[in-house]
Amino acid sequence: MTARDWHADRDAVFERDAYTCRHCDAVGGDDEPTTLRPYPIGDVPLEGEVHESTLVTVCEDCFGTLESAPSTDGVESAELFELVRETTGLQGATISDVAAFASLATSLPATLESALDEETETAVDDTVSEYRRARRDVLLALAIVDARLERLAALEPTVGSEVRSSLEAFAETARDLQSTLREVVALGETVAAALERCQGCFDGTRADGIRASAGVTCPTCGLTVRETDDWRDEDGTLAFDQLFAAINETLQGASETTETLTDRTMALAEQLTTAQ
Ligand SMILES: [Zn+2]
Ligand SMILES: [Zn+2]
Repeated sequence: MTARDWHADRDAVFERDAYTCRHCDAVGGDDEPTTLRPYPIGDVPLEGEVHESTLVTVCEDCFGTLESAPSTDGVESAELFELVRETTGLQGATISDVAAFASLATSLPATLESALDEETETAVDDTVSEYRRARRDVLLALAIVDARLERLAALEPTVGSEVRSSLEAFAETARDLQSTLREVVALGETVAAALERCQGCFDGTRADGIRASAGVTCPTCGLTVRETDDWRDEDGTLAFDQLFAAINETLQGASETTETLTDRTMALAEQLTTAQ
């Protein structure tokens, strides 16, 4: 992609997001001190103009969190625990976002059907923008936690080996949780693809009557549309109930990992308090 394409979408993206950082709610714009930046989320096609559905508004600070090279300064145990606590808090908020996206995804077939029944453009447009926003928010939240975990991994804490191994156990569980949450998002996106819509911009992919199959590219945003073959019965009918069951099971798995993570955070907290 070129810088020019990137810039072409900036103002539309900021306006859509009401000139507000979608992570920390800082308000920017011409008369505000906060600088805003567009940030790409999910898979962004390498060629062609970047579609607004793949860009989200963030403030300069949050952009820094997402982009900056992790610092490797030595940190004291108090500071280390503060970072762990913040990361846990952010990941907790991400779980709520993922659960909200999952619930939106499982209600999509009904929501879309009633929007199409209304035969008004706005009903369908509302469904499209609600899906896009929920997906962008969840992908941004996951990206922020990834950035925090990378930073934590790069730190050189001035702590003993016992604390180090607890920290590593915490980070490993947090990374497991990230990948389970991404799996939920991927399954939610599959619901969109199963409705013959692009999982990124949610525009219809089936104008020409071709089912989304291997390598089909969305004409609106350029994403490769998710395959749905794994979720079809032998006669080709989409097994939505199985897809929804998989979403719920994976979410359940995420909540079990969260319990392990809480235990590990507490173990770490105890060690760090004793270490001081
Ligand atoms: Zn921000
Ligand atoms: Zn698309």
